[in-house]
Amino acid sequence: AIKVEGVTKRYGDLQVLKGIDIEVPRGRFAAVIGKSGSGKSTLLGIVSGLERADSGRVLVDGQDLGSLDESAMADLRRRSLGVVFQNFNLIPSLSALDNVLLPTVFDATKSRDEHRGRALDLLKQVGLAERADHRPAQLSGGEQQRVAIARALVNGPPILLADEPTGNLDAQTGADILGLLLDMCRICGTTLLVVTHDLDIAAGADTTIEMKDGRICNADA
Ligand code: ATP
Ligand code: MG
Repeated sequence: AIKVEGVTKRYGDLQVLKGIDIEVPRGRFAAVIGKSGSGKSTLLGIVSGLERADSGRVLVDGQDLGSLDESAMADLRRRSLGVVFQNFNLIPSLSALDNVLLPTVFDATKSRDEHRGRALDLLKQVGLAERADHRPAQLSGGEQQRVAIARALVNGPPILLADEPTGNLDAQTGADILGLLLDMCRICGTTLLVVTHDLDIAAGADTTIEMKDGRICNADA
């Protein structure tokens, strides 16, 4: 579950978040929509623990992010969170497969072969079975995006945060990715917080949260 209470964030003179309250129960799918610059990625960055809120509280799986030191935060991120960034953040020198395998490096509960099998299976599910050995520069934008999605899912995280996960995909591929996310939610009980401009994705969510100028202007459950 994710709980955000009264979160504010300022960059210099710009008050980007002006008091955000969100609750996403375990296994639910919340879509965040809103105009460019309304603060969606900033909010996701704070929930992911990469950015600190100026005030307010963020609870991820019951843990107050503000109370965690750096190593406890890193643990929580590894254990509980899969993150798909708006700009993918793939490692240029690594193949698609090795990018997907990155989060498994710290997980000694499975063998390398098991991790590899799972990573290849995910690449297949996002339609990239034939691209496992390609480096990001050898992949299209939409293919890179799908590698980033496979990477975020490889550890089977209880919570997935995704920033525009279908932004570079055609309608059919986007629908396939949406299907994968919905499966994670319904079958694995994954909690999803997804920023999107895609109204089909928003329509598939349990809740749509609309942001405007750093505030939530509309939330339907
Ligand atoms: P988009 O739909 O275009 O991705 P967004 O809703 O994700 O937009 P944010 O990336 O959260 O918007 O940015 C909100 C505002 O904060 C923008 O005006 C942006 O310029 C500003 N901003 C974001 N990050 C920083 C930063 N690190 N330093 C200064 N300003 C920032
Ligand atoms: Mg953004």
